[in-house]
Amino acid sequence: KAKARGRNQHVFFDRKMNEEAERKAIIEQELLQAITENQLAMHFQPVIDLHRNRITHAEALIRWNHPEKGLIMPDDFIPIAEESGLIIPLGGWVIDAVYNQLAEWRGQLNEPLQICLNVSPIQIVHTNLEHQLQAAIDRSEPTDGNVIIEITENVMIEGPERIKEKLDTMKQLGMSFLIDDFGTGFSSMRFLKKMPFDGLKIDRGFVSHVDSDNDKAVLVKAMIEMAHNLNLKVIAEGVERQEELEFLRFHDCDYVQGYLFGRPVSAHEFLELLRKQ
Ligand code: C2E
Ligand code: MG
Ligand code: MG
Ligand code: MG
Repeated sequence: KAKARGRNQHVFFDRKMNEEAERKAIIEQELLQAITENQLAMHFQPVIDLHRNRITHAEALIRWNHPEKGLIMPDDFIPIAEESGLIIPLGGWVIDAVYNQLAEWRGQLNEPLQICLNVSPIQIVHTNLEHQLQAAIDRSEPTDGNVIIEITENVMIEGPERIKEKLDTMKQLGMSFLIDDFGTGFSSMRFLKKMPFDGLKIDRGFVSHVDSDNDKAVLVKAMIEMAHNLNLKVIAEGVERQEELEFLRFHDCDYVQGYLFGRPVSAHEFLELLRKQ
C-alpha cells in the first residue's frame, strides 16, 4: 500500500514537473516573440535625493504587455529568461530602450537625469556588456543624463576577481554601479570594498517598518554607516510610509525610492512628474 502511494506521489510530482516545464517552455517561446513584436516597455520609478528633495534618478523597470494575458511583471519572466539564456537578447533590448529614452528626452529635461538600469549577472559574465553599452552610447549620445548599472550581490558568485575586471573596464566608459537588493545575497565585505561600486540599495525587506522593528533599525543604521565609511551612497528601496522616510532621513540615508513617492510609470507619465517638481 505504501508502495502504491509512493508510486502515486511520483506520478503526481512528475506531472507537476511536466506542467512547470511546459509553462516555462511556453513563456520562453512567447518571450522571444515579445522581443521581436514590440510587446516590451520600460517603466520608470522616481528616486528622490533627500539632501535636495528632488527626483534625480529613475529606475527603469521592464514590463511585458502580453497580447492575451495582459500585463506580466518581471518577477514572472526574468528568472525564466535567465535560466533559458533569453536574458541576453532581452537585456540587450533593455539597454537600447533606456538609451533611446534618454535620447528622446534630450532637451526636454530641466536638469540631468540618471537612469538606473537593472542588469542580470549573466549579462556581466556571458556578454560583452562594455561593447553593448559603448554602441548604445555612440548611437544615442546622451547629453542630459547618464546610466547607472544595478547589479545584485549574487554576481559575486561568478568569481569576484573576474567581475571586478569587467566592472573596472566599464567604469572606464564612465559607467557607475549600484548593488541592488543589498543585504539579501552573497557578498563578502572585503570584495565589496574592492569593487568599483558607487552606492548600495538597501532591500525593501529591511526598509519595511524599519521605524518600529528594532532588528531592522539596527541593521539599516549599520548599513548606512558602513556604506558611508566606504564612500558609497545609500538608496533605500520600497519606502511606503512616512515613518520609514523620517527614520531614513534622520539616519542620513541619501536617496529614497518607493510607493510613498511614486510607482513605476510610463515614460510619458514620468516626464510629467519631472515637469511638476
Ligand atoms: P528591483 O531591481 O529590486 O526593483 C525594485 C522592485 O520593487 C520593482 O518591482 C518595483 O516596482 C518594486 N517597488 C518599488 N517601490 C516599492 C514599494 O514601495 N513597495 C513595493 N511593494 N514594491 C516596490 P518590479 O518592477 O516588479 O521588478 C521586480 C524585479 O525584476 C526587479 O527588482 C529586478 O530584479 C527585475 N527587473 C525589472 N526590470 C528588469 C530589467 O530591465 N532587467 C533585469 N535584468 N531585471 C529587471
Ligand atoms: Mg533594481
Ligand atoms: Mg532592488
Ligand atoms: Mg529585486
